[in-house]
Amino acid sequence: MRRIIFIGPPGAGKGTQAARIRDRYGIPWISTGDMLREAIAAQTPTGEKARTCVEAGDLVPDDVVVSLVMERLTRPDCADGFLLDGFPRTVAQAEALDTASGNGPIDSVILLEVPSETLFERLAGRARDEGRADDTETTIRNRLLVYEKETAPVVDYYRKKRGLVVTVDGVGAVDEVTARLQAVLD
Ligand code: AMP
Repeated sequence: MRRIIFIGPPGAGKGTQAARIRDRYGIPWISTGDMLREAIAAQTPTGEKARTCVEAGDLVPDDVVVSLVMERLTRPDCADGFLLDGFPRTVAQAEALDTASGNGPIDSVILLEVPSETLFERLAGRARDEGRADDTETTIRNRLLVYEKETAPVVDYYRKKRGLVVTVDGVGAVDEVTARLQAVLD
């Protein structure tokens, strides 16, 4: 059973690596950022609630994201495990996942670590290449601050609670980082 949480600051390479883990282990990759961007594009009620927060680089309210994820985790493809990317991003979300976990406890929490100077360069590069609406300089800075304030404590939560956290160095070529992740997960 692989119930994996992927934590790391914006620009750490979570999405790139998550796609590879999904392909290797055959578990669904659940990215709350992607789910929210889809909801915004489709102008659903959830998308309308999330739009301004996502565009500013702020967190969407916990109840909105928690209900999206809980609904997703009830689908049959999550029965044998899943990879959560971008969730939980607050201690309140981690607690909600723990109490609601009909899927069973989390097996591993992987922290993808990249120094902050590298993150800003990567995010600015992605802004040029992909034109994501939340990749402007101001929102990039805000997302990095939000990570430190709201999401870094989630790592401590899992460390204290169950000692589940494994730190993986996210610096280097994409293949090198994938190899480090596989060494942890295999
Ligand atoms: P990401 O693609 O994971 O960087 O997420 C993009 C944006 O979606 C974030 O900056 C937040 O505005 C929002 N978002 C994604 N996941 C969450 C979450 N778990 N809690 C709150 N907001 C989220």
